[in-house]
Amino acid sequence: MLSEQIFRIQHQHPENLMARHFDAAYFNGLSPELQARLTRVIITGMQNPDSQMGAYAMNPDDYDLFQPYLDKLIRDYHGIEGELKQISNWDSDGTLDLASIDESLSNSSMRVRVGRNLSNFPLPGAMTRDHRIAFENSMIAVFKKLIANPDFGGSYISLTPGSSHEISHEQYLQLVAEHKMFKDMSADPYLSVAGISSDWPYGRGMYISADEQFIIWVGEEDHLRIMAMKCGCLLNEVFDHLHVSLDFIEAQGLVFARSEAYGYVTSCPTNLGTGMRASLHIALPRLTQNGSNVDLLKPVAKKLGLSVRGAGGEHTAAGAGGIVDLSPSARLMVSEGEIARKLYQGAKQMWALEQQG
Ligand code: ADP
Ligand code: MG
Repeated sequence: MLSEQIFRIQHQHPENLMARHFDAAYFNGLSPELQARLTRVIITGMQNPDSQMGAYAMNPDDYDLFQPYLDKLIRDYHGIEGELKQISNWDSDGTLDLASIDESLSNSSMRVRVGRNLSNFPLPGAMTRDHRIAFENSMIAVFKKLIANPDFGGSYISLTPGSSHEISHEQYLQLVAEHKMFKDMSADPYLSVAGISSDWPYGRGMYISADEQFIIWVGEEDHLRIMAMKCGCLLNEVFDHLHVSLDFIEAQGLVFARSEAYGYVTSCPTNLGTGMRASLHIALPRLTQNGSNVDLLKPVAKKLGLSVRGAGGEHTAAGAGGIVDLSPSARLMVSEGEIARKLYQGAKQMWALEQQG
């Protein structure tokens, strides 16, 4: 039955990678216990047939456990053939100045984030409410050290009802509108079917530095989303800021889940490897028909190895004047420095296409 449903999706939604690579013989050969576990991983792609990936890991060892199947989805998305090797290297080999593409890009909104999960909790899709609250509390202890450090300062805010760090709903909505805080995940069918947004808003929150350029989300799609953000034109600055800050966080004794083959473990297979998505808000009014059609851009972007999102993030529309979010799609088998270069090159090529009349 499960196989039949997936084969139907395969035909109707050839872009759904969970369905594209589903192998009934492999699934049927698993023990009932493992079949139940794998079903939880792929249920989101079954109930949301228009998913691009259609699978979320529930536990850090899922990628190794279900490797014969998940490896195909991972390679397909990241465009990998041959041996897998994840190497970390933040050197971007020179200055990446958006203003050198065009003066009008000199005040661009730049953001670089990594997804990280701790090895001592299940991944967000399989956490209980108690796990979520215990995890948030363990992070508050780490954030106290950041807040006490003059390089960071800032504060922690929580969405957990009754928390001493709790903010009002209006304050929360304001932070979402400013692109600092994450959206209400319970409204996202891809995340909710996977259980990732369960118990919302318990255990959810955000650390934000005094200069508001360094942010850590707690309890979104991954345990942690660690990011640097800035308006300007030097991509290197946001990457360097994230790199230095990440080193500080790791030095606090957090043990991030890793897989031998796939690097940092993340809920979504699209984020494996570096866990990094580096994005740029850029106005492309001609290519998006004044922002009315972001989908028009997707095939063009794909050829350049880029993903396109709306101005409010994934599954949102373009912003005023056709502003979209561009980011290199690959996060595995690329280094952090390469992602920086790919973002710069991609923006340059996209800008040139936008200018062609
Ligand atoms: P991710 O999955 O990488 O965390 P999302 O697509 O979920 O990103 O978006 C999360 C938030 O980050 C949204 O508010 C989105 O508008 C914001 N965002 C993403 N890239 C940028 C950017 N370059 N500048 C400003 N805000 C950004
Ligand atoms: Mg997201």
